[in-house]
Amino acid sequence: MSAFQTNHSVSRLWIKQPLACFTANELDASAGIVIENQRIVEVLAQGQEPSSPVDEVFDAKNLVVLPGLINTHHHFYQTLTRAWAPVVNVPLFPWLQNLYPVWARLTPEALSLATQVAMAELLLSGCTTAADHHYLFPTGMEDAIDVQVEVVRQLGMRAMLTRGSMSLGEDEGGLPPRHTVQDGDTILVDSQRLIRQYHEREEGAQIQIALAPCSPFSVTRDIMIDSAKLAEQEDVRLHTHLAETLDEEAFCLKMFGLRTVDYLDSVGWLSDRTWLAHGIHFNDDEIRRLGQAGTGICHCPVSNMRLASGICPTLDLIEAGAPLGLGVDGSASNDASNLMYEARQALYLQRLKYGAERITPKTVLGWATKGSASVLGRNDIGDIAPGKQADLAFFSLDELRFSGSHDPISALLLCGADQAEHVMVAGQWRVKHRQILGLDINELIAKHSACAKGLINAR
Ligand code: ZN
Repeated sequence: MSAFQTNHSVSRLWIKQPLACFTANELDASAGIVIENQRIVEVLAQGQEPSSPVDEVFDAKNLVVLPGLINTHHHFYQTLTRAWAPVVNVPLFPWLQNLYPVWARLTPEALSLATQVAMAELLLSGCTTAADHHYLFPTGMEDAIDVQVEVVRQLGMRAMLTRGSMSLGEDEGGLPPRHTVQDGDTILVDSQRLIRQYHEREEGAQIQIALAPCSPFSVTRDIMIDSAKLAEQEDVRLHTHLAETLDEEAFCLKMFGLRTVDYLDSVGWLSDRTWLAHGIHFNDDEIRRLGQAGTGICHCPVSNMRLASGICPTLDLIEAGAPLGLGVDGSASNDASNLMYEARQALYLQRLKYGAERITPKTVLGWATKGSASVLGRNDIGDIAPGKQADLAFFSLDELRFSGSHDPISALLLCGADQAEHVMVAGQWRVKHRQILGLDINELIAKHSACAKGLINAR
């Protein structure tokens, strides 16, 4: 049972007459939204009133309402290594090789702080569901995902926590140092334990688990094959990085004699159970195959620009049938965990590829909500419609940067909205007036930044 499902008596809340409301199907919601417990039960068109009495009315006349944003790729632990001088100006492979030894010193306390920071930052940007890809399990970090579960519950967000893995050390031709990789049996036993302990299957799930071998250059073929089998047996999703850089493509050709999508296919991953981070370097035939399989893609525009990796062919993938969502990627290659900021960057980067007429603010907000939900295999979140979970982000345009703007939805991205005024997850307020309820942000910053300094300076 989801932590959000309570036995309280039914309470009805009317979010009345928002300034504007974004829905996937352009529903008229000008009279507002009615919420009952954790679900949206009515969307009211102009002139309509709730069908039966409500317990509470929330005046939204100065607020733009979006479905809670959904982030489909991150590495929360990397908030500890943002803007680290030695890797500020390098591409992916040297970036990773410099960072692995630092990350190998991670502790459970550090991961807990890093997870709190990443999730808090996301939540304040209007994000209600976040996926994390955690693949570091050095000695002492065996309970990494358990540590993250605790933080998710504290903050009251939803999360798709992926049990990542690395199994191909430098000595075997991989990229990561030997002491950061695990053997296949250890990975699989822990994966199964986490699924059975934490994965929620019902509508409104708060916590889900997926399996996520890190990337072609850090895992063995065997762990890819075995993870796919276990995911099918346990009915959970699969996630990995793919086609991020040309270095990676060259690695796959040399190591496996295959291009990236052929490699994915050869290990049993070309399916609708899988979603991929980045998905940049595909040819036309590969795009067609990914679309046909229904494999999801997480577009990470800022990370792709920061590491100069390339531009994801978003519209071609969608036209081929692939679900597409957004992700901020890890904070060492972004270095922000702000999903509104990410959506704005997606709008501009994708306009360079596809033109201003085809990439609109609504297109991109659709990717950040319903698109991301389908990438995570969910249809109960990511939209404002009767029956959906009451995950909502409210934005105020009462700020200098919006002064003189006209269309409220476009203004959010074009004028650069970066913080939600209020955020609700499963019908419960988690952010009010830009403050996370029950979290002392200053104390968190003090602890997290001290921890980040310690991690870099330790030898
Ligand atoms: Zn990543």
